[in-house]
Amino acid sequence: MTKDTCYANAQGSNAAQANPAQKLMSVDDALAFILSKAAPLTDIEDLEISRALGRVLARPQISTLNVPPADNSAMDGYALASDDLSADSDTRLRISQRIAAGQTSQALTPGTAARIFTGAPIPPGADCVVMQEHCRVEGDAVIISPPLHAGQNIRARGEDIKSGVTILDAGIKLRPQDLGLAASIGVAQLPVYRPLRVAIFCTGDELTEPNTPLAPGKIYNANRYTLTSLLHTLHCEIIDFGIVPDNLAATRTVLAAAAQQSDLIITSGGVSVGDEDHVKATVEALGRLEMWRIAMKPGKPLAFGHVDKTPFFGLPGNPVSVFATFCLFARPFILRCQGMVKTLPQSFLVRADFDWLQKGNRREYLRARLYTDAAGITGAVIYPNQGSAALTSISWAHGLVCIAEDATVQRGQMVSFIPFNELLA
Ligand code: AMP
Ligand code: MG
Repeated sequence: MTKDTCYANAQGSNAAQANPAQKLMSVDDALAFILSKAAPLTDIEDLEISRALGRVLARPQISTLNVPPADNSAMDGYALASDDLSADSDTRLRISQRIAAGQTSQALTPGTAARIFTGAPIPPGADCVVMQEHCRVEGDAVIISPPLHAGQNIRARGEDIKSGVTILDAGIKLRPQDLGLAASIGVAQLPVYRPLRVAIFCTGDELTEPNTPLAPGKIYNANRYTLTSLLHTLHCEIIDFGIVPDNLAATRTVLAAAAQQSDLIITSGGVSVGDEDHVKATVEALGRLEMWRIAMKPGKPLAFGHVDKTPFFGLPGNPVSVFATFCLFARPFILRCQGMVKTLPQSFLVRADFDWLQKGNRREYLRARLYTDAAGITGAVIYPNQGSAALTSISWAHGLVCIAEDATVQRGQMVSFIPFNELLA
């Protein structure tokens, strides 16, 4: 089996010492370097649980209650004392009380049964519940057949949550079930990290907004919408500077303003070495470029640095590269800044239903779809056009197959797959 190579050593690599030099940096070193620069926010706000979905919990939540708070019935039926039953023949017990969910109970009169409903408290003196389907009612009595044993069909006090235990750890992204769990111990508000303020802009004289006719030589601005939507999935607050033309003065003005107003700057385009690429040079002039050019495909010209104290990601211009570099680098950085403990997506191995025979010196992230064959095995097929400008490939795909540097893949081999669900949820 192939080892999972999506992020082979990112957490453990000593990349903070890696030289941010001109040659390509490995994905693992680049990621470890970037994560070493991510400072978690210190601002915490209390939110009603109904508004906390998707936010990152800032403090662990400890229960001050037992759940359930008292022994209660797991079934609709009859509560009784197991000692009152005959071991080898039917027993007839008078029905002495009726207890519904939400009511309180009286102590059980010895030698009787209580009519009881799911969630209702077990009366003192009873130690089991018999399901109504398993007994017969005659007048004011119930007839019960053996065997029955103590504890049957009773949900014990504190069975789910014991008072004093941690039910939610700090640093998790709150999911619907976590909010339900918080509510189950009576918590109405949760402490969460405030949203990260992210400034974005897209560089390029060729860019046109989708609601305007396309002039010759122009293209529509796709990256703005990919980026803002990706940031929305991470609950960021967005400061959108729109399109910035390809000149040094405009780039400088916007970059300086973005640094003042945000916790993080993300740009698209203009980070290559062409005459019309001004972002990298501007970051070098206004701040520090700490990393540039990653051994990955798509996405080689990824820049990272600081403008004043504000961290900066210069994503490439090609739309697939924007998506891939955001998901693989900016996303974990943002999650770490937002206080998340787990920042890397979960990948798993799937069978390659394609050949990838050309070796490359960069790690490849292929746009792939999964399907399950008749034997129940999950295989991956890849989009025919793996070019970094082919935005259709990521819209078509279910995720990214990762192929290590210098590796080839033959049909039938196992390969690493990162589902988009992991990256976009
Ligand atoms: P650049 O890195 O600026 O040289 O851009 C690389 C390629 O991506 C060029 O073909 C650009 O036209 C294209 N591109 C840059 N920005 C965008 C954008 N916002 N939306 C769609 N395509 C873009
Ligand atoms: Mg450009």
